[in-house]
Amino acid sequence: MTALPFPGPPLVRFEGVTLAYDTAAALEEVTLEIPEGHFVGVVGPNGSGKTTLLKGILGLITPTAGRIFVGDQCCHHLRKVRREIGYVPQSHHVDPNFPAKVLDVVLMGLYPGLGLLRRPGRRERELALEALSAVGMADFAGRPAGHLSGGQRQRVAIARALVHTPRILLLDEPHTGLDVESQRSVMELIHETHEAKRLTTLLVTHDVNFVLPYLDLVLCLNHRVFAYGPPEEVLVKETLEAMYGAEVHVHEAHGRCFVIAGDHHHE
Ligand code: ADP
Repeated sequence: MTALPFPGPPLVRFEGVTLAYDTAAALEEVTLEIPEGHFVGVVGPNGSGKTTLLKGILGLITPTAGRIFVGDQCCHHLRKVRREIGYVPQSHHVDPNFPAKVLDVVLMGLYPGLGLLRRPGRRERELALEALSAVGMADFAGRPAGHLSGGQRQRVAIARALVHTPRILLLDEPHTGLDVESQRSVMELIHETHEAKRLTTLLVTHDVNFVLPYLDLVLCLNHRVFAYGPPEEVLVKETLEAMYGAEVHVHEAHGRCFVIAGDHHHE
């Protein structure tokens, strides 16, 4: 696939990238550009390589072929690229006795910039409080981190990802495990954060319907790129059926598009 002619300079660039664990390739021959200031949804079935794509951008996994750039930095230089990136990993169960306050969790987002020996001081605590305010969680700063609801935990994770003012925000399945109302309010927060600063945002999800109204671009992934472009061009029955290997229906209702994946194709 060739790079697409989007306006603005690319902030992230994949050039013929293969990412593999041991010998098995999770992603093959990925070539694409993510323009600065866009909101990109990465969709694909479970195990299709979405998290691996994020790990590649974070420099946590080195391509066996090709190269990944953030700005003009190659992602092999982990320490340099990490300062440009805010990362909200997939949410896991948190031990209610986890011995940290909410503010401490947000401060963790500043550690890479502090170096090994410096401890966070007053300035860092101010930044962490500002980040908590921005996600509506300032009142929770002194509470135990293990005592939050799923939606509150996700807000704190977003504050931690943004506290060092990154140029890119990466989110991995931010709706997982949340009730419908929390999913909606977390999605609104992500959208507002993106809009406020035109923050380049990449959101990985297996449920495209929930994020669709907010996206500028959709990347359809299943071990390789099946399609990449504006939602109305990409989310068509033929492309989605090829990607999912299953019957797919695309419906329009209330001015919105809905994707319903059905049974798997049988050989
Ligand atoms: P997704 O995020 O789309 O669910 P992943 O990127 O997590 O997919 O995984 C892509 C493929 O790579 C899957 O086949 C998965 O089993 C494999 N994989 C992921 N992480 C590892 C790992 N640490 N070691 C070996 N294989 C892995």
